[in-house]
Amino acid sequence: MIVKKLYPWQIDVWHHLIADRNRFPHALLLRGQSGIGKLDFAISLSQALLCEEADSQSEACGKCPSCGWFEQDNHPDFRLLSPEQTASKDDEETTKSTKKKTQIVVDQIRGLSDFLTLSSHKSNGMRIVVIHPAEGLNAAAANSLLKMLEEPPPNVVFILVAHQAQKILPTIMSRCQKIDMPVPSKEVALTWMREEGVDNAEALLDYAGGSPLLAACETEDGALASIEICKLLSLGSKSDVFQLSSVCLPLGMENAVNALQKWCYDLFLCHFTQKVRYHQSHQSAVQKLCTQLKLMALMDFQKTLGDAKKSATHPLNNELQLERLFLHYTQIFK
Ligand SMILES: [Zn+2]
Repeated sequence: MIVKKLYPWQIDVWHHLIADRNRFPHALLLRGQSGIGKLDFAISLSQALLCEEADSQSEACGKCPSCGWFEQDNHPDFRLLSPEQTASKDDEETTKSTKKKTQIVVDQIRGLSDFLTLSSHKSNGMRIVVIHPAEGLNAAAANSLLKMLEEPPPNVVFILVAHQAQKILPTIMSRCQKIDMPVPSKEVALTWMREEGVDNAEALLDYAGGSPLLAACETEDGALASIEICKLLSLGSKSDVFQLSSVCLPLGMENAVNALQKWCYDLFLCHFTQKVRYHQSHQSAVQKLCTQLKLMALMDFQKTLGDAKKSATHPLNNELQLERLFLHYTQIFK
């Protein structure tokens, strides 16, 4: 496992948490928007809590046996639960099973019981379970986890990481110490991105809604496609449905719908405030479109996009679906 250094905007929350390492809560919920480094933080925190050398304030030493296990991804006192990708035996199944899984299922939680009942590999040590993203727990898995949180095994720490904490079962929420993970200021985010060698940092950061990690992993192809998509969408009712669809197809359904959702978010925002959030460099185009906008039709379209996103991982005919979506888009203008 590659353990990243703490991001500059996380230093304060780190000190706040680690100062109490001897009375660490048995369940922690790290919540906040995507792309601000919550999972990296959870992993750094786990390594530091398991480290044999770390003093009360510091990050993991990186040298002790515990850190060694951690970095080789086989620490016996650590588990990371994420939606599972099922391996498949035959090629025919490959496309189906490599599609992105979004749920953490009950067997994964049940699979923890041995881990939780065994004693730690260190005499006074703790065991840590990171669950990411916690809103990915399906109903059965959430209930199974709740039972564990109600009777927490000694020396076990659960760290839940959530992009959409409002989707988590309230009974689980209430058993966690909740930490709002910081979003860096624009200045801090841009400094970090430039240090990472990201070109065009400001435009990418805007497009990623202020999430620097999301912005930094936007590939050059993705960034170029976004610019092309915005140019085409700027034509409103005269947008070329087939051209849009062919630009979007290589991005995949989910990314295409994301791009459309951001564009519509800005249309909506601009309608009421004359401002945009994601498309600073297209602000005047969006403002112009707003004068031709049918608001009810836009809201209806946003609902359609929400539905399309839910089915984005289904193996439907993406090309046809994209064309339908873009056709619908051209109809939300007068
Ligand atoms: Zn260490």
